[in-house]
Amino acid sequence: MLRVVAKPVPKKNIGSPALSKIIKKMHAALAPEKYGVAIAAPQVGESLRMFMVAGRVFKENEKDEAEPMPANRVYINPEITRASRIKRDEQEGCLSVRNMYGTVERHQKVTLKALNEKGQVVVENASGLLCHIFQHEVDHLNGILFVDKAKNLHESK
Ligand code: ZN
Repeated sequence: MLRVVAKPVPKKNIGSPALSKIIKKMHAALAPEKYGVAIAAPQVGESLRMFMVAGRVFKENEKDEAEPMPANRVYINPEITRASRIKRDEQEGCLSVRNMYGTVERHQKVTLKALNEKGQVVVENASGLLCHIFQHEVDHLNGILFVDKAKNLHESK
């Protein structure tokens, strides 16, 4: 499943009970992962072009306990429409490749176009952690795992 190019979600399925069920499965898979920041549908056994980013990634200040936790965000049929020429090395791991870490060269900024859970078009310009997540997750939808690209792969628990 993780090596297959995932299929686009048909627009008519957005908002359907079947798709909501898959989204629930993604919420459930991400919830117990203290360090998990995102999950792609193929990681829960569904070969669809869709991923979810954990709400805490959108928190202004991760340490501020008074700030309410933002909701997880779903990105359907995502596409990177722009990517900076400048790249930099980022440390990565993956919920599907347990305890392995390595360095992957990623674009410093990207623009992602996708549909949200309501089927509305969203365009997000990302840098930092979110930019890094977008590239890792789009790779998942194309059957690519970070270990394919990583340097200095090492095991760590
Ligand atoms: Zn991953």
